[in-house]
Amino acid sequence: MIYLENYIDGELQPPINGRFLDNYNPSKGVVYSQIPDSDKADVQAAVVAAKSAFKSWSEKPKEERSKILVRLADLIAENLESLAAAESIDNGKPLSLAKKVDIPRAASNIGFYATAILHYASESHSMEGAGINYTLRKPIGVVGCISPWNLPLYLFTWKIAPAIAAGNCVVAKPSEITPMTAYLFSKLCLQAGLPPGVLNIVHGLGPKVGAAITEHPEITAISFTGGTQTGATIAKVAAPMFKKLSLELGGKNPNIIFADCDLDKAISTSVHSSFANQGQICLCGSRIFVEEPIYEAFKKGFVEKIKQLKIGDPFDPKTNQGAVVSEDHMKKVLACIDLAKEEGGTIIAGGNRVVLEGDLADGYYIEPTIIEGLPFDCRTNQEEIFGPVVTIAPFKTEEEVIKYANSTLYGLASCIWTENLTKAHRLAASLETGIVWINCWLVRDLRTPFGGVKNSGVGREGGFEALHFFTEPQNICVKIQ
Ligand code: NDP
Repeated sequence: MIYLENYIDGELQPPINGRFLDNYNPSKGVVYSQIPDSDKADVQAAVVAAKSAFKSWSEKPKEERSKILVRLADLIAENLESLAAAESIDNGKPLSLAKKVDIPRAASNIGFYATAILHYASESHSMEGAGINYTLRKPIGVVGCISPWNLPLYLFTWKIAPAIAAGNCVVAKPSEITPMTAYLFSKLCLQAGLPPGVLNIVHGLGPKVGAAITEHPEITAISFTGGTQTGATIAKVAAPMFKKLSLELGGKNPNIIFADCDLDKAISTSVHSSFANQGQICLCGSRIFVEEPIYEAFKKGFVEKIKQLKIGDPFDPKTNQGAVVSEDHMKKVLACIDLAKEEGGTIIAGGNRVVLEGDLADGYYIEPTIIEGLPFDCRTNQEEIFGPVVTIAPFKTEEEVIKYANSTLYGLASCIWTENLTKAHRLAASLETGIVWINCWLVRDLRTPFGGVKNSGVGREGGFEALHFFTEPQNICVKIQ
């Protein structure tokens, strides 16, 4: 049995209370490691370490901070195989996906901010000879980073990289459901020579460790990615304490397919945008709207392709669909499928749990599921499912599909498929989402603002936006006449 440890003040250490939690391998439904069941005392130790590291880290020339982060990015890349295997075992995702997406992107996140900080310049505003203002961008101090289970190391590093690059010290909590790669990452931080206390990783439950981070008076900014409900809980605590908050929350993303699209591309990309990572990506398009003239053709091609997806052992290179992350999550997704049926939906593909053979028999597998015949405003089309389940519906006009697309409380991402670029740009501007992809999905440039509107979040990550978040601007005005 592997026992994970917290990473506090540059040391790997067990939780102060000595308690551990079971960590499951979702592909087999078995416990394979133990996670620290940390509490307030560990968070307090992490804050003390972060505070004492802050002065020297924030005053270190950015070139030196950059060098350490570049080393860390290189170490992730060098350990691609073992990190990808760990991510797949911990999360249930296909090993091929972890190798191609999760771990390379974690290395890119660190590498990106290692160099971004070298190009980050502050502003100056001249007052026509009367004076000049310049803006200092100071690191905030000790910041909290809380991340979810769907893209564990990918989203964990997406937060801590800009925080550390900007000169802050971090107390971070990965999801208790997928803590393994954050633990392995802490060992790489030691190897890279990250000074003690700059990054502290406290493992444990959200309502204990996450809440202790959120309410700690000396943690002055919180960057959170996770569910909308949890985001609201965090905001309730953090707002009256006047903490800076960045919230990346849930989504219910529309995928709009016009009759004049490149149908083959729209179908094959929609397979990924619906079911990549078993549909457990906040950016997955879970509501597919298809213009009437091609509705039947799209449906036929889409269902055919979905039926070819291989559900199986995440370590098998032929597997397209691994396990969902936990037994609880599997039950939640299956309950959502039942609700869709109660609401009058017709399952046109999938709809069931899959029981595999041998030691995978207790794993948490669900067929990729397509549901037809539901109104745009039913619960299934309004609430986030976050699993391998999509709905499909026809539309007649642009006005109608805009109404459908914008009808949810969420506003994270959307996709538009059309060869008519005038229409694409017009529609993109009218969609209430922070991100719009035209004729593609999940094409990412790390310099662009990333985040959602409405209940999908507050603030933006990515590029200099994240460095703005993790610094406090101070304007200095000099009168020169
Ligand atoms: P949760 O909100 O359940 O958890 C996210 C993190 O918050 C976990 O580390 C969790 O810990 C922690 N947490 C839970 N309760 C509290 C609390 N009271 N105070 C502080 N922290 C807490 O989300 P999931 O992990 O289930 O992730 C799935 C959700 O994340 C989906 O809604 C998805 O859309 C969203 N998401 C959004 C993204 C975006 O960029 N907008 C990207 C990826 C996912 P623990 O796991 O231990 O409970």
